[in-house]
Amino acid sequence: MSNRNLFPVTVVGSWARPSYLIKALRSRQAGEISFKDFNDVADKAVLEALDLQEQAGVDLLTDGEQRRDNFYSFVVEKLSGMKLTKVSELMDYAKDRARFEEVLRALDVPAFAIKSPIAIDKIQVQEPLALDELSFAKKHTNRDIKVTLPGPYMLTRASWFEGLTDKVYPEPEDLAKDVVKILRDEFEILKNAGVDFIQWDEPTLSQVAFGEETKETFMCAALPNRRDPSEELEFAVRLMNETMSGLTGVKTGVHICRGNWSRREDVLLEGNYGPLLPYLVEMNVDQLVLECATPRAGDLDVFKEYGNEKEIGFGVVNPRTDEVESPQQIVSRVEELLKYFDPDKIYLNPDCGFGTFAERNINTNEVAVNKLKSVSAAADILRSKYS
Ligand SMILES: [Zn+2]
Repeated sequence: MSNRNLFPVTVVGSWARPSYLIKALRSRQAGEISFKDFNDVADKAVLEALDLQEQAGVDLLTDGEQRRDNFYSFVVEKLSGMKLTKVSELMDYAKDRARFEEVLRALDVPAFAIKSPIAIDKIQVQEPLALDELSFAKKHTNRDIKVTLPGPYMLTRASWFEGLTDKVYPEPEDLAKDVVKILRDEFEILKNAGVDFIQWDEPTLSQVAFGEETKETFMCAALPNRRDPSEELEFAVRLMNETMSGLTGVKTGVHICRGNWSRREDVLLEGNYGPLLPYLVEMNVDQLVLECATPRAGDLDVFKEYGNEKEIGFGVVNPRTDEVESPQQIVSRVEELLKYFDPDKIYLNPDCGFGTFAERNINTNEVAVNKLKSVSAAADILRSKYS
């Protein structure tokens, strides 16, 4: 019998949002319906996302982030002091508006559709960030559940905007103290509610490492004033380790991809994980959830020095393409990785979510399911070979 503990199949987080859900989300954001009314609609979308993942043979499920506007902006519903702000609105506060607009155009970013949570007052927890999501999902599946949360660096950097935040938090470091405290509390809450995996999303680190001057940024409005990349990366490691300090009992990962807002591979960031790995292995988490299917990710030999230091959530399918990778293709890719990681250190996942930002689905459910079925079939082959 194959050992399902080997090569668990999981997802990075988001599923495409159906049109009825996006309609309800718009009503919610216009203040026409309550969060509860919105969630009643979202329940259906979550059930569909869970069902599709079960059909596709996924072992560790998410709720598809169907209750979220995007993977970090959703905190506005849970924290007071945060204001959901369209990237296009932030332009009014940008120091160099023309340049900011130019960057958004070059990156194919829909500035009117992507929203950031901006701290405009002292942030305080009104309700836990993801307990509602976890509790609902647990009621409707017997499989293990992963909850994704914005990492402390991402949440700090994305929420601090000069001209809006500095009256309350003079520097990002001041905001970070509250962010770390909130995320630590959230870890305990989710642990007590029986979560199986917590994934911290830190995709903006790739903008620090791979972003050229002109390729900064919309997820972190404050980064144009950024310090030296190594200082930013050390800041990110410090915040993660302050968040995780003394916390145990739930497996954790950090997810970093090079962007998933457009299907145009040419506008997304490019480069292997070489510049990031020395910092990532210093983070007190169990697993690195990495994008490795897209050719933009480079060669796997970058892991040579770091093999087995952490588990790896290995990106084996590209969420942005229609072509479905074959199980055999995936198996050979994993066998390449087995040069650097033991079988029991490897999870299989897509490079990123299938619907990172609401109103910008990256793929259809049909393609997503077929890709995950391929991953599951590959996992079966690998389990029978390496158990
Ligand atoms: Zn991602």
